[in-house]
Amino acid sequence: MRTFEYRRAETVDAAIAEVSAPGARFYAGGSNLLDLMKTGVENPAVLVDVGRLGLDEVTLSDTGAVVIGSGVTNTTAANHALVRSRYPVLSQAILSGATTQIRNMATVGGNLMQRTRCPYFMDPGFDRCNKRDPGSGCAARDGFNREHAVFATDLPCIAVHPSDMAVALTSLDALVHVRGPQGDRAIPIGEFFVLPDVHPDRDNTVAATELITAVELPPNSGPSRGWYLKVRDRHSYAFALVSVAAVLRFDGDVIESAAVALGGVAARPWRVPAAEALLIGRRATMEAFRCAADAALDGAAPLSQKEFKVTLAKNSVVRALTTAAAG
Ligand code: SF4
Repeated sequence: MRTFEYRRAETVDAAIAEVSAPGARFYAGGSNLLDLMKTGVENPAVLVDVGRLGLDEVTLSDTGAVVIGSGVTNTTAANHALVRSRYPVLSQAILSGATTQIRNMATVGGNLMQRTRCPYFMDPGFDRCNKRDPGSGCAARDGFNREHAVFATDLPCIAVHPSDMAVALTSLDALVHVRGPQGDRAIPIGEFFVLPDVHPDRDNTVAATELITAVELPPNSGPSRGWYLKVRDRHSYAFALVSVAAVLRFDGDVIESAAVALGGVAARPWRVPAAEALLIGRRATMEAFRCAADAALDGAAPLSQKEFKVTLAKNSVVRALTTAAAG
């Protein structure tokens, strides 16, 4: 690890001013950034500690939205009464990720900003990685790609986004609040992550000088039934091969609204509106769920090692919807 300067910011605006220094990066829990610094993937000249900015509360707004400060730890967010009671799918997703020790350190803002765990990206010993070095190629394309994307596989990078929390937030239509030199803005979660087309080194639409300040969960429009299903190679401390966040609302025994997002299948959480549309107005039957699952994976173009992921994802959609519907 190279030497770097450490600065602790006392206010959000001071942090934003500090991060304008050449080579400066925000630092919160450090659960991903420090790993990347140790391997030489990241080499910041300055770390601006944003861990003491007072962004560590979960609050209920006047409109009924739940606002989670970006400095709230994953453990606190997952176990907070407002999250557990109103957005259980989010609590389940967070608790399915990492380990207790990491969740105690990792923050909500950092969770959104974490980078892919593609092994070729994580190891600078591999020269070809468009995400580390745009234009250098992609070692995963003709290498080990069993865990990689099945959607948008014609792009320069086929890595998947690793966050479970982001998949649940996508199903919940969350808003990400950021502040930068030009002021505050709110980014719908569906516009937060980007596909690796023109700039495969970019994961999201946040500028380097912008700090995530909070994540806002819209007010519930009525009782819902949700489930987060994560399928992985081992039961703990592993990233998703496939995950599904499913949230259903019922009018009697008819599905009134549906939100379904997939993880482990693309460079960003993958919302599936065509599948959702097929569910609305139908009863919670296996036939309806299988139709939705087929629609959810429509357009998947897996490379040779990943064909199993399409079947796995379809079965996971059916299982997540069945479990959610059962309440
Ligand atoms: Fe790099 Fe993406 Fe290819 Fe992995 S999949 S080697 S992160 S370009």
